[in-house]
Amino acid sequence: MDKLIHYPMVIGSELVETGSGDLIDPATGQPFATVALGSKAEVDRAVAAAKEAQVGWAALSYGERSAALLKWADALEAKSETLAHLESQNAGKPLKLTTGGDIPFAIDNLRYFASVVRRQEGSAAGEYVGGYTSMTRREPIGVVGAITPWNYPFMMAIWKLGPALAAGNAVVIKPAPNTPATTIELAKIALEAELPAGLINVVTGGAEVGEALCTHPDIRMISFTGSTRTGKRIAELAGPMVKRVTLELGGKAPFIVFADADIEAAARGAIPAAYMNSGQDCTAATRIYVQTEVFDQFLARFTELTETIRVGHPFAEGTDIGPLSSETQRLKVHGFVEEARQQGIKVATGGVMPEGEGYYYPPTILAEAPEAASCVQEEIFGPVVVVNRFSDEAEALQLANGVPYGLAGSVWTLNVQRAMRMAAALECGTVWVNDHLPIASEQPHGGFKQSGIGKDMSYYALEEYTIVKHVMFDITGDQKKAWHSVVFDA
Ligand code: NAD
Repeated sequence: MDKLIHYPMVIGSELVETGSGDLIDPATGQPFATVALGSKAEVDRAVAAAKEAQVGWAALSYGERSAALLKWADALEAKSETLAHLESQNAGKPLKLTTGGDIPFAIDNLRYFASVVRRQEGSAAGEYVGGYTSMTRREPIGVVGAITPWNYPFMMAIWKLGPALAAGNAVVIKPAPNTPATTIELAKIALEAELPAGLINVVTGGAEVGEALCTHPDIRMISFTGSTRTGKRIAELAGPMVKRVTLELGGKAPFIVFADADIEAAARGAIPAAYMNSGQDCTAATRIYVQTEVFDQFLARFTELTETIRVGHPFAEGTDIGPLSSETQRLKVHGFVEEARQQGIKVATGGVMPEGEGYYYPPTILAEAPEAASCVQEEIFGPVVVVNRFSDEAEALQLANGVPYGLAGSVWTLNVQRAMRMAAALECGTVWVNDHLPIASEQPHGGFKQSGIGKDMSYYALEEYTIVKHVMFDITGDQKKAWHSVVFDA
């Protein structure tokens, strides 16, 4: 057998080979590469490298930083085909998704931050107290620890690196243990594109390495994307050190179809909304609520369309969805379906674990589940969707807001007033009207409630990676100021 390709860590300008573990191809269940394994020692080295690099990087002008990031974006784009292929192999994503979605969208996101940093400005400059001029500055935070999940490994890495670096920080990033390949590659490409060594450091590993980042005294901010459970642990670790945190956590997005909607458009829209990336998407439509009058019509059409989805090898022509990212995830997803079956919930389609190699799972619809059931309340993170009914707008809202999550949701109606009312009342960070999933680099993404704190993408994300400073100038030169008399008269 050919020797497997090996992915090292990237620390400063070095490729670090410590330790070794297998990377599994989810389409076959077999190793396709090996990866170095980090520990607290590599976290310490990486933080030291980042700390040193950050000072010089922050001293560059916005224009200089922007030019360096744009050069890196061009280098990534030049290798986008290879990156897409690698992402598909490591995470089990259809090639059409990585080539047409993940990789180009992430590069666009990086270019957005490289550009928008040049319009960064203080929000106040003027005389707020007589005899003084004040201004606010936005400063970088320092060294940022970034921790990413396995569902969009390259995109999540760029969503953090783009704004963090544009704002003048250096980053130590820890990808998910099973999907580190493209994060390692993007850091190697950054060195080739002459971004300063130490600006992007990749340390591999799992919870232990993540916790070492969260408790490192020289890391001033943790930018995390992952499950709500891990997010709570990170907040617990970062709290005593008063580190800044952004937490992009789980979701359980409602998809609400009113009887006055275009039902065919809604049924068609629900397909990518529920199943893109095999449903391993924090904003995926996982709870479809349909008004009683059109419930049967919607469910029949949605089931029919679901049964046309082509589940296949990520590299095969025509594949709509690939395998799940790991066997652990597949068993977890199937566990929810089995539990639903035992509770007497109808499985309208799917729900059978296929035989053969790879971690495949069919698109699955559970119908008319009790609201308290775990398939309605908990994040399944697979191609499994619940379709339930509601009677009126008030009930739709109560059901939609009735989970601890609040990341995203959509409303399907042709009534403009209703759409406006629902958009305002839904407790989530993104609301789509007559669509579900599209995102833009210029617009924020982030959760309400237990879906998180802070924003990715948009100018708001740039602000997350900066800290505001007030600078006040005496503009009179008077030795004795009027306000001194508050303290002493001499
Ligand atoms: P996870 O929480 O298990 O792991 C995420 C990352 O945290 C991994 O790198 C993991 O190694 C690390 N980690 C695990 N335990 C840790 C600890 N104790 N301390 C520090 N780091 C630790 O999540 P996952 O299963 O990899 O990803 C799926 C989850 O991510 C889903 O809940 C999904 O909704 C969420 N997600 C959210 C968004 C968003 O923008 N809100 C985007 C993508 C994914």
